[in-house]
Amino acid sequence: MATPGGPRPGSFPQNTNPNALADHMQNLQMNQPNQQPSGNYGGVGPRPSNASPFNQQPPPFAGSRPGPPPPGVFPRGPMPPGAPVRPTGPSQPPPFASRPPPPGALPSSLARPSVPPPGAGPRSAPFSSSPLTSVPPIPSQFGAQGPFNNGPPSVPPVTAQSGPRFPPNVGTMPRPSVGPPQPPTMLSSGATSQSSQMRPSFGSPPAGAIPSIGQPAPPFSAPPSSMPPPPPPGSSPFSPSVPGTVQASGSPFGMQTWPPQPQQAAPPPSGPMQPPPPRMFGMPPGPPALPNQSMALGQTGQSRIDPNQIPRLAASSSVILHETRQDNQANPPPPATSDYIVKDTGNCSPRYMRCTINQIPCTVDLLSTSAMQLALLVQPLAIPHPSEEPIQVVDFGESGPVRCSRCKGYINPFMKFIDQGRRFICNLCGFTDETPRDYHCNLGPDGRRRDADERPELCRGTVEFVATKEYMVRDPMPAVFFFLIDVSMYAIQTGATAAACSAISQVISDLPEGPRTLVGIATFDSTIHFYNLKRALQQPLMLIIPDVQDVYTPLESDVIVQLSECREHLEMLLESIPTMFQNNKIVDSAFGAAVKAAFLAMKSTGGKLLVFQSVLPSTGVGSLSARESEGRSNISAGEKEAHKLLQPADKTLKTMAIEFAEYQVCIDLFITTQSYVDIASLSVVPRTTGGQVYYYYPFSALSDPAKLYNDLRWNVTRPQGFEAVMRVRCSQGIQVQEYSGNFCKRIPTDVDLPAIDCDKTIMVTLKHDDKLAEGSECAFQCALLYTTVYGQRRIRVSTLSLPCTNMLSNLFRSADLDTQFACVLKQAANEIPSAPLGQVRDQATNVCINILYSYRKFCATASSSGQLILPEALKLLPLYTLALLKSNGLRSDGRIDDRSFWINFVSPLPTPLVIPLVYPRMISIHDLDEKEESDDASIPASIPLSSEHISDDGIYLLENGEDCLIYIGSTAQENVLQKLFNVSSVEEISNQFILQQYENPLSKKLNAIVNEIRRQRFSYLRLKICKKGESSGMMFFSYMVEDKTPGGPSYVEYLIHIHRQIQSKMA
Ligand SMILES: [Zn+2]
Repeated sequence: MATPGGPRPGSFPQNTNPNALADHMQNLQMNQPNQQPSGNYGGVGPRPSNASPFNQQPPPFAGSRPGPPPPGVFPRGPMPPGAPVRPTGPSQPPPFASRPPPPGALPSSLARPSVPPPGAGPRSAPFSSSPLTSVPPIPSQFGAQGPFNNGPPSVPPVTAQSGPRFPPNVGTMPRPSVGPPQPPTMLSSGATSQSSQMRPSFGSPPAGAIPSIGQPAPPFSAPPSSMPPPPPPGSSPFSPSVPGTVQASGSPFGMQTWPPQPQQAAPPPSGPMQPPPPRMFGMPPGPPALPNQSMALGQTGQSRIDPNQIPRLAASSSVILHETRQDNQANPPPPATSDYIVKDTGNCSPRYMRCTINQIPCTVDLLSTSAMQLALLVQPLAIPHPSEEPIQVVDFGESGPVRCSRCKGYINPFMKFIDQGRRFICNLCGFTDETPRDYHCNLGPDGRRRDADERPELCRGTVEFVATKEYMVRDPMPAVFFFLIDVSMYAIQTGATAAACSAISQVISDLPEGPRTLVGIATFDSTIHFYNLKRALQQPLMLIIPDVQDVYTPLESDVIVQLSECREHLEMLLESIPTMFQNNKIVDSAFGAAVKAAFLAMKSTGGKLLVFQSVLPSTGVGSLSARESEGRSNISAGEKEAHKLLQPADKTLKTMAIEFAEYQVCIDLFITTQSYVDIASLSVVPRTTGGQVYYYYPFSALSDPAKLYNDLRWNVTRPQGFEAVMRVRCSQGIQVQEYSGNFCKRIPTDVDLPAIDCDKTIMVTLKHDDKLAEGSECAFQCALLYTTVYGQRRIRVSTLSLPCTNMLSNLFRSADLDTQFACVLKQAANEIPSAPLGQVRDQATNVCINILYSYRKFCATASSSGQLILPEALKLLPLYTLALLKSNGLRSDGRIDDRSFWINFVSPLPTPLVIPLVYPRMISIHDLDEKEESDDASIPASIPLSSEHISDDGIYLLENGEDCLIYIGSTAQENVLQKLFNVSSVEEISNQFILQQYENPLSKKLNAIVNEIRRQRFSYLRLKICKKGESSGMMFFSYMVEDKTPGGPSYVEYLIHIHRQIQSKMA
């Protein structure tokens, strides 16, 4: 097996030591670098008029953030396995008392300076002589650190250099492994007659969702009423400035952070290992045979198949350096799942936006022939790689960013200036505009503006504009966090309430600092209890709302208060809630009413509502019934109606959610339960409001509090924005067909996002409305208007310009597997609740067959029908499609809530996490210390998901981004068990497993790898032990998607099936 774990980029955090705290905690924590972010982005003062009080706020998440939760995080400190954790019982002390600070933590007074050290943070506006600044790699409102145990790729310090720091010895550019088509080796003797059902891929959008092209629209119609029209061209230009000079504050450009010539830091390595990257675009017409993979597949099946011919993911652990454009042409991005570092040379980073095909078909006919679909996956606040250059913030002053006066597209590198720079042609709608007088600049001999390289908006694919008043319907909202906790009997008895209170108590110190941060808290069972947190009161006062049908709320000013005013009250309250309700005998839960009441309290500001729910809502508005048990009889009667259990029970919660979204309230739902809660109904609330569902089932008071805490912490500390509106614009000829993700949509062209964060991805399907010209480029521009947690109004604009082509072969050559598969998965998830499962499964397979058929028929050169010929770029599409069929969402044997959760989980899922979800990564860990790695955290090469690779004496780790399974074979060696688990036999390992680190290299390496995986996945994986012969072992083997199982064929069988379907279509 090849040595995995290639060289790591040198700029990875030097002082990150994921191991340092591992022996205190269940190795779950990521330590993080201690450096303060450097001061190079202390530039522009926030523009919103009311934002000035916050100019001086410190970067609350800068380096000093403690990494792990202290040992006392979980109900009672580091728990010996089997320790009682239920917070019930009068003698038990409250679980939160006197929590020691985490190792290395500063006293809170030191950790939260009221005045930032000069240059310490992203918002040190008072010092700016240069308004042009950069956003830290983590989007603006958070510190430059990725300070969280939970996995932001612990962002290293951002040093003063603004140029990219490409690591030395970076790996090669992405290269498809090109193999010449093999000669036909076998003829298949006729395909089976089982013809595939030809269907269009998944459902078509409602007719009303189609925006008409060319229709001038307001920039963002979110609150349409008071949005003034954009300024006419040429009016109130931004203040005159000469790039490169120091300006008085308020002028848009300065010299500090934008080097006139972005230096070519660390040129791409050259040498024998660096063949020139393959050119995807601009190849001469009539290219040689496309790279593909062919396999001889016969009816007789497996015996004739050379296992080495089966397409598999090539292990690649080297970091890829990616320039988004080279020689003025778009550069196709590396795989979303690879480790890469982007240099934005005109197109936006693929982290923010990537397309299913990296060349755009000129006609709808060509696209239909390919059977591929055209779609974008946008993740506007994605976290960049630590080594990437920060996004530049551009301030055009009072006039706001330059825009096309017709389509309202934002100025970008592809707008063409003509007539000595006096006019410019919009690359989106083709309209010619006058250049605003003060934005004028002469053109150079190359036809570009002479200042193009100094202005981020003219040479970078992603910039962030400071929004002016016209982008606000009110002052930017404060950061409001409201916590709503289930205290009904089962929530208390299972320890869920205690875990929630503990987690909240821990994250209070992680909330953004400053007077703009407001908090509130309420609990509920069959009634709702608010708490007055005013400082003047000796103790928090409980205010009970008994009416759960027609909900009202106490005085808002009493229950939502400044965090700085109520910190002590809040901590005291969180300590006492579990004991206050420890004898609660009320089993009913008024979830809907409680959410509504909390909403009413937040209505005037908007904000984040974090709900901890443990049982099925059973009373008050929006109550639900245990229809799963009713549904079981339906399932036994036939599968046809089963999918209806995956739809919301009624429209009550949806109607409420739309109102919440209108008032910019985003709801996240933490479901800590041991029973059915009807996620299909509950999830409507987070999905409509830009939130998400977290699911802890079956909730364990021993092993889940750690994950709950980490999830909550990441939720509130990750880069995010509020009251956002997003729109994607396309060049003439293409338009947006539909958006899909977690948001509310009131008009066809925009999506409303009460909140958006770095983990949220939106799928944007596209369609032709005209022909595109061969040789031209088609641009896509995603604009996200949002408010940072510090009250700045910003517009993040990402532009991607791709070449248009008339050649089918170019489409296959430039197909993006990760993006295409992510779209197939998300569309399947959208279909599951409304169609019989078999139909959804067939659709997924048919997408795969139709694409491969098109390639086989029109592009492949080999003539033998006995071969299955796969385009190189999509050679793994059958494997991933098969894995999708066997996933939780598309299996017929899953629990209803599990399937509902899966559907909700994939809806906003970022592209890089899609493939691991269905085709997890598996590595062997019993032999970790035999592998030579450059460092401990290097993850060994993964193993195909087939049981033939699982040895009885081995130990394996499998992770899909959510769960991490450790499988122990029945004859695992005793010395290995001793090193990893401190036991001598498999039986001694508790199923309530907590990974510990022991003093030996093998154990340290395993801990380092788990930490590294958590970092990569932005997720605190739930660890489970799986043993052969137990149900946990069967669960582990259910992930072996290449095996033949009752639920589906083996990989080889599936390839044969696909092949036969293609043959029958060829005939
Ligand atoms: Zn335009």
